[in-house]
Amino acid sequence: MAARSLRIGLIPGDGIGREVIPAGKKILESLPSSLGLSFSFVDLDAGFDCFKRTGAALPDKTVKTLKEECDGALFGAVSSPTTKVAGYSSPIVAMRKSLGLYANVRPCKTVLSPAFASPTKTPIDLVIVRENTEDLYVKEEKTYPDPSDPTGKAQIAEAIKRISSKASWRIADIAGQIALRRDKMRQASGSGTSHTKQGMVTITHKSNVLSQTDGLFRSTAREALSQPHFNALKIEEQIVDKYYDVIVAPNLYGDLLSDGSAALVGSLGLVPSANVGEGIIIGEPCHGSAPDIEGKGVANPIATIRSVGVMLEFMDLPDAAEVIYKAVDASLAEGKLVTPDLGGTATTQQVTDDIIKRL
Ligand code: ATP
Ligand code: MG
Repeated sequence: MAARSLRIGLIPGDGIGREVIPAGKKILESLPSSLGLSFSFVDLDAGFDCFKRTGAALPDKTVKTLKEECDGALFGAVSSPTTKVAGYSSPIVAMRKSLGLYANVRPCKTVLSPAFASPTKTPIDLVIVRENTEDLYVKEEKTYPDPSDPTGKAQIAEAIKRISSKASWRIADIAGQIALRRDKMRQASGSGTSHTKQGMVTITHKSNVLSQTDGLFRSTAREALSQPHFNALKIEEQIVDKYYDVIVAPNLYGDLLSDGSAALVGSLGLVPSANVGEGIIIGEPCHGSAPDIEGKGVANPIATIRSVGVMLEFMDLPDAAEVIYKAVDASLAEGKLVTPDLGGTATTQQVTDDIIKRL
């Protein structure tokens, strides 16, 4: 196999980001040489702490390096100040904009481990594909006096929900590609069909109520997913069943679904994500900076380690991703070394080393 060398940006950010991103780096460094991959790394700054030090939550240098040098990146977390701080806004939003990361992809998979009981009776294994540039998140709001109120005190607030066919098409297209890849990976690993929704993309919308905005999302997504190269996929709409494989949704519903399904896995410490779009792919654990456990060395590194896998999948390296997923599953299946969020006493380092041993 031809060797491939990849440059990865490391953006730990705040809080436990600084503890879990090094774990992700170690995993990449420890991948078996038979995969033919080599990695180089560049440390990059962003977040609230960076804002306090430098006055910028997302320094230009970080964006420039990601754009010009990096194939992929790992992003930890940023803490949000509890009271509004002048001049500070989340670097994640700015990063998505400046790097064209229009999709947020969140795989949610039940953990099978004697250490930890799943909150759901039926195991889940699905991916939420959330549009990340428009919908209510365009944040065009206004407040004005309610004309029906003679006292002039009552108010009305409105927000714009904007849906474009361009954004709807590209998000549905990515969802279709993910569904095809999942089928391929299932076939390669011999894990056959366990339910009828595998190889299916579910389009989520409320076009019965919002016939124009969600209507446009629905019809565009249908059209995108009827391209000939998606012939092998099944397409359905709405939420009608308890089984899903890939769910594609506009921004707001995607946000709610992502958080809801993360809860079904049991700990935020287990759930990965990736930001995907026009160029670089950024893996990101779905948890925040977890100030309550910061500095104790007990943050669960699995969300980050799985995010490394998702990043590699989008870099067209499903074999490397599979090696990581299998090592994580094996460590959890043994269940001897787990962090306190899963009821154990192991440290970030011990869990990382246990997974590395199994790569
Ligand atoms: P932020 O504002 O940065 O999101 P937060 O206080 O909301 O901070 P989260 O990171 O969202 O904290 O985490 C919510 C809860 O889940 C916390 O109790 C935290 O300790 C726990 N948690 C989050 N990530 C992990 C992890 N990787 N390992 C163990 N526990 C975690
Ligand atoms: Mg949080």
